[in-house]
Amino acid sequence: MDLQTLQHQCSGCTRCPLHKGRTHVVFGQGAAHAEVLFVGEGPGQSEDEQGLPFVGRSGQLLDKYLFAIDLDRHTNCYIANIVKCRPPQNRDPLPEESEVCMYWLREQFRILRPKIVVCLGRVAAQRLIRQDFSVTKEHGIFFDKNGTLFMGTFHPAALLRQPQHKPNAFADFAALRDKIGEVCDHTY
Ligand code: SF4
Repeated sequence: MDLQTLQHQCSGCTRCPLHKGRTHVVFGQGAAHAEVLFVGEGPGQSEDEQGLPFVGRSGQLLDKYLFAIDLDRHTNCYIANIVKCRPPQNRDPLPEESEVCMYWLREQFRILRPKIVVCLGRVAAQRLIRQDFSVTKEHGIFFDKNGTLFMGTFHPAALLRQPQHKPNAFADFAALRDKIGEVCDHTY
């Protein structure tokens, strides 16, 4: 199966109650042969309206960080979320919603086979790296899980609220650039 077919299947998903409040499923966006996968927690209002991940203010900030290390969501990386439908009032996804929706992310993972997964924020990092992962303490560290490298960093929305973390986030992206140079074949 390819990503397009999977996206088509996902667009009609009613596996969890979040489908009731959505305008669009936000499946993900990026290059079909991406080696670097970014994962956030779930769509916000702008994402729900447009059906695309990270398109609000925090998305613009993410694009700046990507640009700084020669990544572009249209050409050499992929952006997805733990849950594909917007939780009401932008609350964290419930554990049961995340668990059900992980089916789609696992399929995306299976198709893309990324070399590096970057978790944007606590919700994604605690789901994909470790349940008690601390972004403040462990950001920028690469963890090898069955041959794929996972790293957690700050969610761009958190950086808008707490700009004092921006230098740390930038250092994480610089480390990511180096790691891509080491382990990826065709990202650059
Ligand atoms: S959040 Fe995920 S599992 Fe729930 S309805 Fe949307 S796509 Fe399906």
